[in-house]
Amino acid sequence: MGEIMIAVLKMPDELFWCDNPITRMQHNNIRKEAAEEIIRLSNENAQLRKWMWLNHGHTGQYGDDGEMQCYECERQYGFYDWKRTPIDEIFNRIQTANIAALQHDIKFDRKK
Ligand SMILES: [Zn+2]
Repeated sequence: MGEIMIAVLKMPDELFWCDNPITRMQHNNIRKEAAEEIIRLSNENAQLRKWMWLNHGHTGQYGDDGEMQCYECERQYGFYDWKRTPIDEIFNRIQTANIAALQHDIKFDRKK
């Protein structure tokens, strides 16, 4: 989303809802463009989530009802819903589990 579009959307009410018909038309056009951009980004987000869900290394995916879930993720990372879990939470849980596994491996190697 462009900087100008965001700046217009963040305008204080008294500036955004101007009485000048030309300004109103311009601002309404930006609102419509912003809505289209949000739709485009939402679709792109869904495609990226689906790609990550299908390619994250597990075989426990379940998605025949339109969901994107993984039973192995529930056991290993503590979440199962790739469709609704916020992306930063997914990354944090996977990273935390990977660090714990690495620390376990290091600890195990030291005992040898
Ligand atoms: Zn998984």
